Amino acid sequence: MAKRDYYDVLGVSKSASPDELKSAYRKLAVKYHPDKNPGDKSAEDKFKEASEAYGVLSDKSKKENYDNFGHAAFENGGGGRGGFGGFGGFSGADFSDIFEDFFGDFGGGGRRSSRRSSNNRGSDLRYDLSITLEEAYTGKKQNIQFSTSEKCNTCKGNGSKPGSSPDRCTYCGGNGRVRSNQGFFTVQQTCPQCAGSGEEITNPCGDCNGQGNKQTNKKVSVTIPKGVDDGTRIRLAGKGEAGTRGGTSGDLYLFINVKSHELFKRSDVNLFFEFPISIADAALGTTIEIPTIDGKKAKIKIPDGTQDGKQFRLKGKGMPFMRRGDFGDLYVQVKTEVPVFLNKEQKDLLERFRKIENEKSNPSIKKFFQKAKSFWNS
Ligand SMILES: [Zn+2]
Ligand SMILES: [Zn+2]
Repeated sequence: MAKRDYYDVLGVSKSASPDELKSAYRKLAVKYHPDKNPGDKSAEDKFKEASEAYGVLSDKSKKENYDNFGHAAFENGGGGRGGFGGFGGFSGADFSDIFEDFFGDFGGGGRRSSRRSSNNRGSDLRYDLSITLEEAYTGKKQNIQFSTSEKCNTCKGNGSKPGSSPDRCTYCGGNGRVRSNQGFFTVQQTCPQCAGSGEEITNPCGDCNGQGNKQTNKKVSVTIPKGVDDGTRIRLAGKGEAGTRGGTSGDLYLFINVKSHELFKRSDVNLFFEFPISIADAALGTTIEIPTIDGKKAKIKIPDGTQDGKQFRLKGKGMPFMRRGDFGDLYVQVKTEVPVFLNKEQKDLLERFRKIENEKSNPSIKKFFQKAKSFWNS
């Protein structure tokens, strides 16, 4: 089925302001939120569709890409969505921001409540991962390790000794819920004995003491897509803490920190650096060789008369766009260095140069003194 236009999905025009987008999305999110429509697959699909549309249109650079290239903006290149296979949810990176925005704190009310149906769900976990700019450029596979509870292999998570099965909970009779009277009202509560599972472990598994989970050092292999930026979040669905008694696992969130680079400064997909050159090179012109983030070199022709601060752009030598085939640019800013610690010969040459310097070779100086002169004369 063809993907619907994101603006159509949210029911707004292309010129909608960020506030309009937000309010359109909020309406749809509240209407189709899984909490309000339990078991309704079409509501869930609509919710996801709206979330995806908002995820793109609320992000300035993604919106720009979408406006220019449509859905193709997120599908072409080796890093297409297919390449993101291991990650659940729609895009991983910014999805949770939306939830944070609308449904409360990270890992708190919002994300959890959308799964309230299973109060045995494991917690979401956060893992901070620091990578270099070069690694952000190439993308990488990385093994990470952290301590969390995992399903017990011996009892397959049900907490009973292999060969035995849990009994019905005696407190709630297997309902998982109990009623109690509070004044005029009868209130239903989760059974305190079995935590809603309706079961009671009579023959506990020796490996996990009937918990169904064990604390382990979990190893996960993650793929960091190329182009990740500082602050990018990646969600790995189901890689968080194990749920209890058959509950689903929480998610693992990777918070990416891209370390600062001693040479390159990054702004979105573009890279910058300052290149110092001598005043002789700036005045006479030269060709310089500069490093690029892929570890290679590039040449730039500096024309004669290049002024301090002049910027040169190398197209496609910046960072890769995430999940797209193309790249940002590299900007090299020329910084002329006034020579210091001159020896006698250099001083003599510059003295000679000062004597034969003329107004034509220093137009800015000439212009300034013309202005100063007319100021003094008036
Ligand atoms: Zn066990
Ligand atoms: Zn019970």
